[in-house]
Amino acid sequence: MKYCKYHPTEAATWYCTHCDCQVCDTCTQESERGDDRYCCKCGATLESLGSAYTAEPFWERLSETFRYPLTVPVMTLIIILSAISGVLFFMPIVGAVAGLISAGILTKYSFQCLEETASGNMSPPGLSEAFSGGIIIIFKMIGLIILITAGGVGSYHYLGAGITGLLGAFVVLSIPAFLINFALTDRVLASFAPQNILRIVGAVGLPYGILIGLLLLMSSSVGLLSYMVFSGFEWASMILQSVISNFYMVVIFHLLGYVVFQYQEKLGFYARAQTGDAPVYRSEVERSRAKISVLVKEGDYEAVNRLYQKTLDRNGQDMSLNDEYFEFLMATGNKESLLEFADEYMSYKLHKGQQVQLKRIYNQVRSVITDFKPTGSEVRFTLAKDYASFGDYPAVVRLINGMHQECSDNQLLVDAYTLLREALEALGRDSMVRSCDQYLIRLKRNVSVGSI
Ligand SMILES: [Zn+2]
Ligand SMILES: [Zn+2]
Repeated sequence: MKYCKYHPTEAATWYCTHCDCQVCDTCTQESERGDDRYCCKCGATLESLGSAYTAEPFWERLSETFRYPLTVPVMTLIIILSAISGVLFFMPIVGAVAGLISAGILTKYSFQCLEETASGNMSPPGLSEAFSGGIIIIFKMIGLIILITAGGVGSYHYLGAGITGLLGAFVVLSIPAFLINFALTDRVLASFAPQNILRIVGAVGLPYGILIGLLLLMSSSVGLLSYMVFSGFEWASMILQSVISNFYMVVIFHLLGYVVFQYQEKLGFYARAQTGDAPVYRSEVERSRAKISVLVKEGDYEAVNRLYQKTLDRNGQDMSLNDEYFEFLMATGNKESLLEFADEYMSYKLHKGQQVQLKRIYNQVRSVITDFKPTGSEVRFTLAKDYASFGDYPAVVRLINGMHQECSDNQLLVDAYTLLREALEALGRDSMVRSCDQYLIRLKRNVSVGSI
């Protein structure tokens, strides 16, 4: 099991050959509508690890496995094939031929289910291809059974009953691995070769035992179920038994396909589950956030800074992105960028009706840049009013002093300097109060001229 480099509890889904690291879906970059994924750190195209580490184990999704054939086309196929072979079963020759054909169709379809599931498609494939080539598979299977039986007879003759019994047990235990090999390679003898059987068993490991147990349970329940329901009424019992066994056959092949899907890495390939849901596309801000999170963990603060600026250029109205950038600048103590951003940030906050936060932001910035003074007159006046209400007059003086050099809004200047005058008075700075008065008279004259 491999985990994301940046999320130690998330299973890895992508691999960067350049950085030699595994990451999860979140820690990647994608183009707006693209399927390719890129490394957040170096920008290289990532290699998919498929669902190698995210696939749910087969023994935990048994209810989904049993629901797999429950679609109208698959159930129709199962019932029609069962009915044909059931009805014709008691007719000589015709029954045998019908049985062979329906078994061929179902076998072909079941192998298709195995292949499709192995490649990550969790819904049953279409039926169109089920009707050709099935008989060949059946004959291959019959050939193999004859070969095994002959081997068994030979072994019994030369090696005795004990060893033959043991070999027989191995053959039975090999069936799941054989079916997987055959579905993937289409070669009968090679699929039964011990090294190829062991490759599958080795990849699955101990859960192979669970698999065998499940298969035995399913095959033994077929007879039992139909016996319980329809014992005595042979014709209907035949059809029902056939429906159940055909149903289980599709389930078993889907299960085997899923085993391949789950152990894909050990079997040497990567497949991604296709659930049929529309892909979820992330917005530019979400993608940037993911990349920022990676770059922060990599300690590349310069790149983080640039990425924040670039993203904010296009998504300046995103309040939390603004907040996050400010927190980042505070945390990294980047004076230059902080000086540039703080002004914009405070005006933005004011216009978004969050003036209560201005004082906190102002103080935070001043803890890094001691002589910081916002350039926006509105921000300064709002802050000054806040300080005045707490009786912090030196702060009022500090904020409003010199505002006339930058502000062209006369009404705002009148209000601001009236407040400054109050502060100076409270501080007992009489000479400054007088010059403030004179300035206010001039200002008010301008205001009335402006309004005529
Ligand atoms: Zn990389
Ligand atoms: Zn991650």
